[in-house]
Amino acid sequence: MAASILLALDQGTTSTRAILFDSDGTARASAQVELPQIFPQPGWVEHDPEEIWRATVSVMRRALANAKVTARDIAAIGITNQRETTILWDRESGKPIHNALVWQDRRTADWCRAMAKKVGDEELGKRTGLLFDAYFSGSKIAWLLDNVAGAREAAEKGRLAFGTVDSFLLWRLTGGKVHATDATNASRTMLFNLKTQAWDETLLKAFKIPRSLLPEVRDSADDYGEADAAHAGAAIPIRGIAGDQHAATVGQACFEPGMIKSTYGTGCFVVLNTGTKLVRSKNRLLSTLAYRLKGKPTFAIEGSIFVSGATIQWLRDRLKLIASAGESSAHAMRVASTGGVYLVPAFTGLGAPWWDPDARAALIGLTRDSGISEIVRAGLEAVAYQTRDLMVAMKEDGAKLAALRVDGGMAVNDWVMQFLADQLAIPVERPVVTETTALGAAYLAGLGAGVFASTEEIAKRWKRERLFEPQAEPRQRDALYAGWQDAVRRVRSSTPRGPTPRGPKR
Ligand code: ADP
Repeated sequence: MAASILLALDQGTTSTRAILFDSDGTARASAQVELPQIFPQPGWVEHDPEEIWRATVSVMRRALANAKVTARDIAAIGITNQRETTILWDRESGKPIHNALVWQDRRTADWCRAMAKKVGDEELGKRTGLLFDAYFSGSKIAWLLDNVAGAREAAEKGRLAFGTVDSFLLWRLTGGKVHATDATNASRTMLFNLKTQAWDETLLKAFKIPRSLLPEVRDSADDYGEADAAHAGAAIPIRGIAGDQHAATVGQACFEPGMIKSTYGTGCFVVLNTGTKLVRSKNRLLSTLAYRLKGKPTFAIEGSIFVSGATIQWLRDRLKLIASAGESSAHAMRVASTGGVYLVPAFTGLGAPWWDPDARAALIGLTRDSGISEIVRAGLEAVAYQTRDLMVAMKEDGAKLAALRVDGGMAVNDWVMQFLADQLAIPVERPVVTETTALGAAYLAGLGAGVFASTEEIAKRWKRERLFEPQAEPRQRDALYAGWQDAVRRVRSSTPRGPTPRGPKR
């Protein structure tokens, strides 16, 4: 029988996972390693690429052992990854020249301010769908070239390679044979032109980034060569790659225009499929790719919130108000409301639609009645209000939203999902498999390997576990949201960069 098991390598911000899926989308076995975070200075976040590589090989082997299968039973590997995180390595030795600069790293904020003046947010947006923010890889490549001794010279001689984590892993898995990435990962670099679906020469010149650094861009389901037999006992074809949020969009089977998913992990990422149409947001949401198959791009609008589940970690680890994330819902249910308390989790600035790197978090509206339960509930409610901010912006951009598909670690919280449905006033749907990122990578690999003939076959496999219907009374939901908007106004820095967005109206 032909091999039909799909192996997803999910290299995330806080962990590296391997999950084996059967072709019906059921997880068979998995293995996971936590990824140490390196904080050299406030606002700087790094990962050790060698650690990422060792973890990847280790989880791959362990997942195979846990499932009691061998590399020969695997039809294909799909890779999904934390996006934007930037690695430069030496093509000769294969060694990284510096730690990976992680997407959350803010060290390039000044570079972005300078480039926003030189190139302009509007011009960058027209070409890449993005806006100038330290979040994206281009600024991180420029920092490495400017700050690692000898890097620029080596790059100009063609001796260095750039990759997001997918590219680096692909290079290592294929023993340096393939230097490629997929179009979704490319779309997060500030260097990839969404219209031409190619690296943008004008931007490369403006940013002084040599073309020779860049990987070849392929479809999200494509032939990426083979993982060497040395890693898992036999060679395995690599047939799918996508950035984590794009893989989750595939895992959630959001294949039709208007379909929308939201992933609640450390941060929160809402992706709206806009089909073959490249829609530019008027409300500072990003245009990006949902995925690219058979050379045909499917576009998306994305709202990125940097902190959602991380608020709950902060309540647990720093304030020590709860012992576990799971305890948060008991607190929320213990009180009828927060009594006017709002927690705006701008710990690392505000993402979409505000893009205010200088804003900082705040707890607002405390009275002497406010206790632990009110504060924890405010932390949970913030997730729903932030999602509503994005939905309001998407609606203003013309989207008609029927239902929201949710996943990620925080989506297990029933209380939050109900409050979310109430705030959004649309049904919230939670699938049976909430590991949608890994599942999406497996599906892409399955498409690339011919296990599936089409996205319709994948869509048939999506199953709902629970539906949350909106129940809140409109006046009450809007009054709560008005309080949130007021709280956001108070935390925003007085001098936000670039044109002031109108921001979501009620
Ligand atoms: P990531 O992939 O970004 O590391 P996960 O998808 O694993 O994140 O989700 C983990 C996040 O979900 C953590 O930030 C945690 O605080 C949050 N979380 C987990 N369980 C719950 C829960 N029951 N209620 C609220 N938040 C939760």
